[in-house]
Amino acid sequence: MAAPPGDKALQFNNGTTATERNRAVGQAITRLVIGNWKMHGKLATNQALLEALAAGSMSLSGQCHLGVCVPFPYLAQAQAQLQGSALSWGAQDVSAHLGGAYTGEVAAPMLADFGAQWVLVGHSERRAMHGEDSALVASKAQAALNAGITPVVCIGETLEQHDAGHTDAVIADQLAPVLALGPQALAKMVFAYEPVWAIGTGQSATPDQAQAVHATIRERLAAFDAADRPILYGGSVKADNAAGLLSMPDINGALVGGASLLAEEFLRIAAA
Ligand code: PEP
Repeated sequence: MAAPPGDKALQFNNGTTATERNRAVGQAITRLVIGNWKMHGKLATNQALLEALAAGSMSLSGQCHLGVCVPFPYLAQAQAQLQGSALSWGAQDVSAHLGGAYTGEVAAPMLADFGAQWVLVGHSERRAMHGEDSALVASKAQAALNAGITPVVCIGETLEQHDAGHTDAVIADQLAPVLALGPQALAKMVFAYEPVWAIGTGQSATPDQAQAVHATIRERLAAFDAADRPILYGGSVKADNAAGLLSMPDINGALVGGASLLAEEFLRIAAA
């Protein structure tokens, strides 16, 4: 497999540069906005939220696909309430194992039983609080794919790594085991760039900051024939900063935490 091109000005036969080509591909991707409920929810409040989102997602009419990643216990509720709606649902984690003596874990085929379309893998909260490394994240992505579920592979640097200028190196390291799964697997994945310093802090990356990292990620994906994969931005996305972020050529959507718990705010992000 070819190494990711380091030269962004690489020329192609038709005279376009890799950056131009990848941006054109990126702009052709339908916007995808996914909510990460984290460990929030209650049957009664979920019902009202899902109802409002399902109704609102109908009016997005093809310009944006909306999804929610709910805590495991609420997958049955999401399935019962959302079947047949334009709003898709998924989970926030998955085991790398198919089944067996893994107390407390949830296998990908179990998520598939509940109609999950998405599963987050490698969210920074799991990397930081549960010691998940990038090799495990890749195994989880593969387990999801084997069950017909789209993994949303989350990557991003900490504030310390950001301040030290190590963002690109961190992204490269986190992506490496996932890229090693090969083009066939990559062709069914979604990626989310979530700078850790922006998650839940109210301090989003600027559109230019996020775009620069997204362009680098797309370059790396392009080397594995996967330039056309959606790359979402996550980290304090709100209704009032979404338009700026989502207007960037390599940002194909958003992964939204806190603001996804508020129906109106979340729908305004999707429509931004
Ligand atoms: C997240 O949890 O993935 C996230 C981006 O959270 P927030 O939008 O609250 O920063």
